[in-house]
Amino acid sequence: MPETLEGGCACGRARYRLASKPMFVNCCHCRDCQRQTGSAFVINAVIETNRVEMLSGETKAVPVPTGSGRPHVIHRCPHCETALWSFYDGWPELSYVRVGALDDPSALPPDAHIYTRSKLPWVALPADVPAFPASYSSKTLWPPESLERRKALFG
Ligand SMILES: [Zn+2]
Ligand SMILES: [Zn+2]
Repeated sequence: MPETLEGGCACGRARYRLASKPMFVNCCHCRDCQRQTGSAFVINAVIETNRVEMLSGETKAVPVPTGSGRPHVIHRCPHCETALWSFYDGWPELSYVRVGALDDPSALPPDAHIYTRSKLPWVALPADVPAFPASYSSKTLWPPESLERRKALFG
């Protein structure tokens, strides 16, 4: 993968780069993600928010309802409203960058498929990537260096 990844919104005003590779990449098949994207799933690259550097433009924070009742805030381009990343559970330190808005989405394939209990039946999952009916324990799945990075954020 290239040294840094860049991405941006549909109108081109909001541009960003990831200062390092993400800690983990989730492909989420939950109903919330399906509804919010109007699609089959969302691909989220989990990375420290301070490693998402704006190159141009800005984002606006749009809160959305969640099944859990915990906060979920989507950051969108204020002009074209493309969703660029999310904050979950009231933790703005951790960004869930939407891989589909990267210039090269193929650079970050999913490390896990989650909430496959609501996966659309015609989506076939690869045999070599772990899949979970709901969530998973990151302590058992994430690489040690990624767990260290998360620990550095939250203690
Ligand atoms: Zn835009
Ligand atoms: Zn989801």
